[in-house]
Amino acid sequence: MHPLSTTHLLLIFFLTFTHALPNTQSPLLQPETSSSPDNLTTTASTAAPWGYHYHYGPLSWHRLSPANTLCKTGIRQSPINIHNALKRPTGLKLRRGDYREYGILENEGQTVSIKPQEEDARYGYQLFPGDSAGGGAGSGGGWALLDTMHFHTPSEHHLDGEHFVGEIHAVFKTTDGQTTVLSTLLDIDTTISNHLLTTLHPWLPFVATPLTATFVQFDPSPILDRFYRAYRRERVYTYRGSLTTPPCTENVLWMVSQDPEKISVEHYRRLKAITKFNARYPQNHPGYMNLLEWACEK
Ligand SMILES: [Zn+2]
Repeated sequence: MHPLSTTHLLLIFFLTFTHALPNTQSPLLQPETSSSPDNLTTTASTAAPWGYHYHYGPLSWHRLSPANTLCKTGIRQSPINIHNALKRPTGLKLRRGDYREYGILENEGQTVSIKPQEEDARYGYQLFPGDSAGGGAGSGGGWALLDTMHFHTPSEHHLDGEHFVGEIHAVFKTTDGQTTVLSTLLDIDTTISNHLLTTLHPWLPFVATPLTATFVQFDPSPILDRFYRAYRRERVYTYRGSLTTPPCTENVLWMVSQDPEKISVEHYRRLKAITKFNARYPQNHPGYMNLLEWACEK
């Protein structure tokens, strides 16, 4: 998952002061009929000094900034290989309000994200992590709001040693910054995609270039409702881990569904062409020595 970036803040500022939220008749929301969508390009330099290849890649993140030390020393790093020894969450609650389903689709450079744009956040998706929180999001009795969703190709988490073609992270945050991420793996299918992916597909060309963004219709329920269904079937695992990107902060409650969602070959190819390779390698079992330290130990 990704922390709130400077890009977000600048973009939100830009949108707040230059664009009113579109209504449902806006050509902004009709990608198939509009030849000139109102793409938004941030002008600020937000090139992140990290990536997934060469000496900017995951093996070197700790060298790029003192703030990234945990990437090398942390013992609760993410992603991991999901297996039966992990706990299942209990008391998880997920609810949605009656909201208008607008979002900003943005190419952040390292991922493509969608951020809900609600005038009143209370009407968005909310999560209560339940008994499994252990001091995490919502531990103060409050609910966490859906902050953003973003994509990784291929998957970051593995399932009993198996990796998947993609992974969606739904990031929920409380007002005091506690984070819970619901992770949904993506499995390739010859024809069918989860409905969220189908609705996003026409918009992806408009954010093919890093640091571009556009308004989209956004309904996360095809992913989140099915995640909750998997939870009720006891097919979700939970563990305490970290951001999977620098600075690798260990403040994330992870919940990973065992039930992958489908992405069609066509949709996957378009998504992958934009997100490219953006997955950190699986980390050690939670509580065990960081693999980088392990590898360097004499
Ligand atoms: Zn992520």
